[in-house]
Amino acid sequence: MGGYHDGRSEAALGRVLRRYPRQSYFLADKFPGYDLANMDKVDRIFEEQLKRCGVEYFDFYLFHNVCEMNIDAYLDERYGIFAYLLRQKKAGHIRHLGFSAHGSAAVMQRFLEAYGSEMEFCQIQLNYIDWTFQDAKAKVELLRRHEIPVWVMEPLRGGKLASLEPDNAEKLRALRPQESVPAWAFRFLQSVPGVTMILSGMSNLEQLQENIGTFSENRPLSAQEMETLLQVADDMVQRIALPCTACRYCTSHCPQGLDIPSLLALYNEHCFTGGGFLAPMALSALPAEKQPGACLGCRSCEAVCPQQIKIAQAMADFAQKLSQ
Ligand code: SF4
Ligand code: SF4
Repeated sequence: MGGYHDGRSEAALGRVLRRYPRQSYFLADKFPGYDLANMDKVDRIFEEQLKRCGVEYFDFYLFHNVCEMNIDAYLDERYGIFAYLLRQKKAGHIRHLGFSAHGSAAVMQRFLEAYGSEMEFCQIQLNYIDWTFQDAKAKVELLRRHEIPVWVMEPLRGGKLASLEPDNAEKLRALRPQESVPAWAFRFLQSVPGVTMILSGMSNLEQLQENIGTFSENRPLSAQEMETLLQVADDMVQRIALPCTACRYCTSHCPQGLDIPSLLALYNEHCFTGGGFLAPMALSALPAEKQPGACLGCRSCEAVCPQQIKIAQAMADFAQKLSQ
């Protein structure tokens, strides 16, 4: 909830929920830390959220989107967000406290080192593309070390995994003729230890029925099936992404001191997703002189890149896409 639907989702849902007994549904809300201007207002925001929803407590309450842009503020005791939310939990206004994260595994680690002992769940973007593409595997392992259940968002990566190119679909059909393409995304998640909840956006009743059908059985992937599925994922990414291996040969040659591999990883994410908020959000943590738009187009980096990536062109294209 929080900022969804121009900030009106809580009020709208509150109007609906008033018709039902409180114990007949579960309700989740998030602290809107996607906006740094909210950091010093946790008490006002939380009270307003309860009021708008017309409830006395939230079943689940999350630090929203722990990432590069807000981790320092989330950990800053002057704002007291964690202490305040713990008090609300003790007072019974929060049943379960957790967090969602779009940041790197390193950022999640900082958050967990500070607050991990009180976190009851964590919501991350997890699917067979992001297992390696967004390093979700490392995030799952990190959560497992902290014994924190994994909640999944984007299991079908915004619908991208609901259908595949014919050659890739055929590779999967050869292994499990009875399984639909979307079901593979869910079978993948059934194979990841620690996953306890999957949020899947559904647009109609048919999709809901299909998902119920899929989850009526637990059919995790065999090692061979997993290998093929991850090859399919790799192939999908390679068709769109630049093949940067993060060798970092280029970085010392950049007169602007740009973190080229990190910027290319964000560029790949932005191109693969077809836009979206992830890359702009991560870039917002960087000063202007470290952003793609700071590239001079000198191509010193390209002279040493073993993958022969057209880096200057990618930076210019990235800057242009971000300005749209
Ligand atoms: S082309 Fe851009 S990224 Fe490459 S070295 Fe020059 S300024 Fe740096
Ligand atoms: S030299 Fe090429 S492959 Fe290596 S980090 Fe730079 S852009 Fe990526």
